[in-house]
Amino acid sequence: MKYNYISLIAVISAVHIHAAEDMSQPVITKEIRKENGKDVPYMFIDGIKVHETDTSKQPLPPVVTPGEGAAMTAAPSDATVLFDGTEASLNRNWSDRAGNPTKWKIVDGVLESVRGAGYIHSKQTFGSCQLHVEWTSPTKVEGKGQGSGNSGVFLMNNYEVQVLDSYENVTYADGQAGALYGRSKPLVNACRKPGEWQSYDIIFHRPLFDESGKVTRRATMTVIHNGVLIQDHVVLSGGTGWDGPHSASEYVAHADKLPFALQDHGNPVRFRNIWIRELKDKPVTK
Ligand code: MG
Repeated sequence: MKYNYISLIAVISAVHIHAAEDMSQPVITKEIRKENGKDVPYMFIDGIKVHETDTSKQPLPPVVTPGEGAAMTAAPSDATVLFDGTEASLNRNWSDRAGNPTKWKIVDGVLESVRGAGYIHSKQTFGSCQLHVEWTSPTKVEGKGQGSGNSGVFLMNNYEVQVLDSYENVTYADGQAGALYGRSKPLVNACRKPGEWQSYDIIFHRPLFDESGKVTRRATMTVIHNGVLIQDHVVLSGGTGWDGPHSASEYVAHADKLPFALQDHGNPVRFRNIWIRELKDKPVTK
């Protein structure tokens, strides 16, 4: 009798965990609109258009000034250091998409994105992980909106945590610094000034797929920006890829481990102190 009681509790809690994950999912609707004779996909997440610029419909996250020097963390002993400021670590750990040496360059001991050089990819592949990246947008502000200090941290080559100059530089909320691009705006805007170093600490759990390619457990993402929580265990409702101006890509089945990538979006964004710790996948709850 006692045994059955415990089993029942176990079942209830497992159902509860699963339900809690599902309940955090937004309602997504899609439609196709004809624009200039072309079919343009539109996606709405909880009734808000992807890349909505009307702040009465999609308010901008409140601005928070991060603490002085917060979260510039040296790698712990069990981390894989992917960039430590040396040419050796660049050549050992990174390539372009085709596997050739990257044209990104080291300037003053930091790594700089080079326009037209393409994304930079880790040679090692990763799934679920804890990732630390430090970055700075260019001191000389040359663009605005998505054109200023744009890069990105792509988990598994697919899931983008946006890198952007979001210091007094307004763009759609789901595309500003720390956004899961097109899917989830940051809770707050903790961006530092252009030229100042910033950190992302990302805890990522990869999505799972069945044999037919259907996602059976969505990815989750927690992001801390300059010591401030900006994505709180967000269940990623789909991919973060470009699918027109107001839509995001869906999950597409992929390998259990893939390189992670940094984006060349044409702006000389700089990176330093990149390290990663692999995480075990959480057990599947039914
Ligand atoms: Mg980007």
